[in-house]
Amino acid sequence: MNRKDYLDKIIHDFEDWWSNDSHRLYVDFYKDTITYINLNSLSKNDFIDFFYDFVSKGGHIQSGGDRAKNKFRDLATKDFNNLKSFVLEPFTDKFSLEDWFHRLDAFPGFGVGIATIYLNRIDYSQYPIMNNKTLNALNKLGYKISSSKSWKNYELVKNIQENLIKDYSNLNNYYKADSLNHFLVAVYPGKALIYNYQQIETFENILEQTEIEHQKENNSNDYDKKDLLNRIINCENDKSEKIILNGKTFKRYNYLMVQIKKYRDYRCQFCSTKIPKASGDFYIEACHINAKSKRGKDTLDNILILCPNCHKLFDFNERINEKITKDKYSVILNGNKYTASLK
Ligand SMILES: [Zn+2]
Repeated sequence: MNRKDYLDKIIHDFEDWWSNDSHRLYVDFYKDTITYINLNSLSKNDFIDFFYDFVSKGGHIQSGGDRAKNKFRDLATKDFNNLKSFVLEPFTDKFSLEDWFHRLDAFPGFGVGIATIYLNRIDYSQYPIMNNKTLNALNKLGYKISSSKSWKNYELVKNIQENLIKDYSNLNNYYKADSLNHFLVAVYPGKALIYNYQQIETFENILEQTEIEHQKENNSNDYDKKDLLNRIINCENDKSEKIILNGKTFKRYNYLMVQIKKYRDYRCQFCSTKIPKASGDFYIEACHINAKSKRGKDTLDNILILCPNCHKLFDFNERINEKITKDKYSVILNGNKYTASLK
C-alpha cells in the first residue's frame, strides 16, 4: 500500500472520529476571551487567574498539570508587567513570531507547548501548535522531524501542516490539524491505524530484502567479509534513497540491511541462533540501537542483528548499563548481560 493511499484512509477515519469527538466543540472556545481588548482590560488578579486557568487546562488542548500551573503562578506574580506585555505582543503591529518564540525561555511556566496553543487560540489559520504530541505524531506519519521543540522544528511543523491542509481541505486550519495529531498518538482508532501502517512497512521491507538476497551482484563474493564491509561502507556514504540492482529499483535501506545481515552471517548477535528456512536461506532481524525516530542512523555501528526473541527482549526491557563504543555494544536486559560487535 502506498503512503498516499494510507494517508487518505487516515484522514477519512479521522473525520469520522472528529465528527463525534469533543475536540470539535472547543474550536472557538476562547473566541471572546483571547482578544486584545478583553485581556488588556483585565485587572492584574483577573489576568493571572485567566492564564492560570488556561495553563492548567492546557488551553483545552493538552493536559496542563499542577507543576505547569504553579510555575506559571510564580512567574506571573514575580514578573507581571513583562509577562503581560509579552502575552499581548502577538496582537500588536511590532509582533515578530520568530523573535517572540526565541524569548519564550525567559518565561518558565509558559513554554513552547502552551505558548503555541495560545497563538493558535488567537488565530488558528496562522499558528500551528507544537508540543511533544505534535512531533511524535508527525514522526509516526513518516515525516523526518526530531523531538526538539526548536524554532527550526516549528517552521517545519508549519510547513508540513500547511501542505496537509492544502491536500485535505477538510482539515481546515491548524486547530483541526492538531486534533489529527491527537487522534494518531492518543486515541485507539488512530493508534491502530499507525500501528498497522508501520506493520505494513515492516512487512514490505522484509519482502524486498528477501528479493535483494536473491539478486546476483557482479564481481563480488557474498561470503567475503572484506567485500561485504566495503559494500556496507559505500552504502552508508550514499545519500540516495534508492539503489538499482540488475535493472530493478530497491530501497537503499533494504539493500544495506541485507549486506549487514550477510556480514553478521545471519546469526543473532546476542544468542548466536541461526533460523533456517525451507528455501535454504536464513531468517534474522535488524534492529536499531538508537531508534530511527530519535535520529538513529542506518549504519553498521547502530544496527544489531537479532533473532525475533532477542529483538523483543531488547525492545521491551529497560536497558541497564548500556555501553556503546566504536567497536562494541553491551547491555544488561532482564538481569542478563549481552554484548555484540559493532565493527
Ligand atoms: Zn537471539
